[in-house]
Amino acid sequence: MVKNLCILGSTGSIGTQTLDIVRAYPERYSVYAICANRSVDKLVEQALEFHPEVVCIADESLYDTLNSQLSTLNCKVWAGPDAIAELVTMPSIDIVVASMVGYAGLRPTIEAIKAGKTIALANKETLVVAGEIICELAQQYHTPILPVDSEHSAIFQSLVGEDRSEIEKILLTASGGPFRTFTLDQMRSVTADDALKHPNWEMGAKITIDSASMMNKGFEVMEAKWLFGVPVEKIQVLVHPQSIVHSAVQFSDGAIKAQLGAPDMHLPIQYALSFPERLASDFPRADLFALKNLTFEQPDLVRFPNLALAYEAMHRGGNIPCVLNAANEVVNLAFRQGRCGFLQMSDIIAETMNQADFIPKPTYEDYVATDTAARRIAEKMVNGK
Ligand code: MG
Repeated sequence: MVKNLCILGSTGSIGTQTLDIVRAYPERYSVYAICANRSVDKLVEQALEFHPEVVCIADESLYDTLNSQLSTLNCKVWAGPDAIAELVTMPSIDIVVASMVGYAGLRPTIEAIKAGKTIALANKETLVVAGEIICELAQQYHTPILPVDSEHSAIFQSLVGEDRSEIEKILLTASGGPFRTFTLDQMRSVTADDALKHPNWEMGAKITIDSASMMNKGFEVMEAKWLFGVPVEKIQVLVHPQSIVHSAVQFSDGAIKAQLGAPDMHLPIQYALSFPERLASDFPRADLFALKNLTFEQPDLVRFPNLALAYEAMHRGGNIPCVLNAANEVVNLAFRQGRCGFLQMSDIIAETMNQADFIPKPTYEDYVATDTAARRIAEKMVNGK
């Protein structure tokens, strides 16, 4: 049976690798809908190759450009956030690949869950911002959420056949990023170009900066907490510079199960699409003979204050992780544009967390308001006001 995919963020790193899998398994997967933020040319190219029913662009100002370029194709052309929210509920869609960047992924993911679509979740910000609401909805609508993030896929794979109540600890690995061995002084003057040179993984710009600052790992602790229902105290971050052990689970009898492999996102994406099956592939293999050593270090919360801030946000709870995420999206972009220093990102996030109003049990509307307010506070600081 062919599964119809809706790929949100189809022109991004996860989106294009998802399409590689569709190319390899045309008898299993079909592209029903693709959606991009602003990359019209790439989106048109994908539409011409995969002939989706719907092609959607988030930025409404690009609708005419997209529509005119797709005039020869017999497909619907949609634009804007309301269109995306409707798109994910279309009856023919089986799986929604949620690989948009940042907070923008929240609303469509909620709509897809309510429509009972299987979610292949790459957009971790959705769980950072509103994990509690997402998990409640997924339970209510019996919607499976399958992790695409490599660490969470590894944990998920390690948990197959296991009782989750037997989890003693989740061992969440981190590469440590390009500044793993830098001093605080060295980190003060690094540029976006330095940060975009990730040692092991090819990813989009936003997540690569989050990896360099280790905010990504803070987000992933929250993601693991919500996906696997494990308290933060039972999630241990291990810096593992070789990125071969993608994460592990330690059980109540002391057994540790891990998933290892080459650092390549095709496998976790494919596993989320094919679960509970495994599909043969020719993705890169990890050659264990070629590995000199596998090392594991404690994370350094002093040199990577973003990780400490993520823990603080988790402990404070309520809307504070949403504040953390909004401030991070602002400074992450500002850093890439050269408007904010590397360590200054953490200072601004911390101060935004101090200034934002605390809401202990936020509704969806509270999250929307929190996101807007926190962005305003962080922007002001970036602009030196
Ligand atoms: Mg990851």
